[in-house]
Amino acid sequence: MIDCQELSKQYGSLVAVNNLTFQVQPGEVLGFLGPNGAGKTTTMRIIAGFLPPTSGKATVCGFDIETQATKAKQMIGYLPEGAPSYPEMTAKSFLEFIADSRNLKGSERLHRLDEVYELLHLKHVLNQKIDTLSKGYTRRVGLAQAILHDPKVLILDEPTDGLDPNQKYEVRKLINKMSENKIIIISTHLLEEVDAVCNRAIIISDGQILADDTPKNLEAKSKFHNAVSIKLSEPSELNAVREAINSLPEIISTEVDEHSNQLIAFPDSGKIPLQAITELGATKGWEFSELHLESGRLDEVFRTITGGAAA
Ligand code: ATP
Repeated sequence: MIDCQELSKQYGSLVAVNNLTFQVQPGEVLGFLGPNGAGKTTTMRIIAGFLPPTSGKATVCGFDIETQATKAKQMIGYLPEGAPSYPEMTAKSFLEFIADSRNLKGSERLHRLDEVYELLHLKHVLNQKIDTLSKGYTRRVGLAQAILHDPKVLILDEPTDGLDPNQKYEVRKLINKMSENKIIIISTHLLEEVDAVCNRAIIISDGQILADDTPKNLEAKSKFHNAVSIKLSEPSELNAVREAINSLPEIISTEVDEHSNQLIAFPDSGKIPLQAITELGATKGWEFSELHLESGRLDEVFRTITGGAAA
C-alpha cells in the first residue's frame, strides 16, 4: 500500500502541502481533486520520489521513498504533469530506453514493449519523433512509459489532459482494466473522470484534505441528491406544475432553469420524492419529456467544499 504520514512541503514561506496523512490500498483508484495550486502535483511528486517532503514520510509497498528510493521507485509508474519525455527521440527509441532503464531484458522486454504499443495504439507512430506527435499521442507515449514495467503503483498526473473524447474513453478503459490489482492515484480537473474511473476521491485545497470518500458518498452530500429533474412536453404549464409540486410534503423547494425550462424539485431531508411526483403527474395528466431522480452533482459538492475553504 501507499502510506503517507504527516506529509508537508514548503516552498519558502508557501505551504504547498500541509500535514497530509492517508493510505491507499491495492484495488483503489484514488482521484486527487482540488482547485489550481491546491497541492495535488506536489503531493504526487513526493510520493513518486521526485521531490523530498519538508517533513513527514511516504512509503510505497513498504519502502520508504527517501531512504529506500530505488526499491520504492521500482514499484511505481509515474506520469508527470504534461507527460514530459525526450522530444528528439522517436517514440520507439524512447520506450526502449525506458525499458532498459527499468532493467527489462530478453523476451520479457519484447513482450512488455509489444503490450504497451498495443494497449496505447502506438504501432503506427513508433518511428515518429516525439516532438512531431500530436498532444494526444505524446500523452499516450507518457502513459506507455509509466506502465511499461507493469508497476504495482501508478501515479498519473492529469492522464487524460489534452486527449480527444475517444482517447479519453480509451485511457479511462485502460485505467479501469489495470485497477484490479494495482494502486492508482490520478489527479484530474474533470469531475466526470472521477465518476468514470475512481472508487475514492480526496479533495485538497491549500495543501489540506477537505474530503476523503467514495464518489457516490460525495455525490450524496450534494443538495441535488434525490432531487427530481423535470421537463414538460408543454413548457407553458411549468408554473402550475411547479406550484403543485411545491405543495407536496416530500418537497422542500423548487428551482427553474429559465434557459432549459428544467424544473428541479429538492427533497425534504431524507425523502425520495420521485414516486409522489409521478403519481401527482398521473392524476393531473401532465406530460413529462424528462423525469429523473438525481444521484447528486459532484461539481456542486466540489464548489461547496473548496469554495467554503477559500471563504
Ligand atoms: P494545478 O491544478 O494548477 O496543477 P496543483 O494542485 O497541482 O495545481 P501544485 O502544482 O502542487 O498544485 O502547487 C501547489 C502550490 O505550490 C502552488 O501555489 C504552486 O505555485 C506552488 N509551487 C509548486 N511548485 C513550486 C516550486 N517549485 N517553487 C515554488 N512554488 C511552487
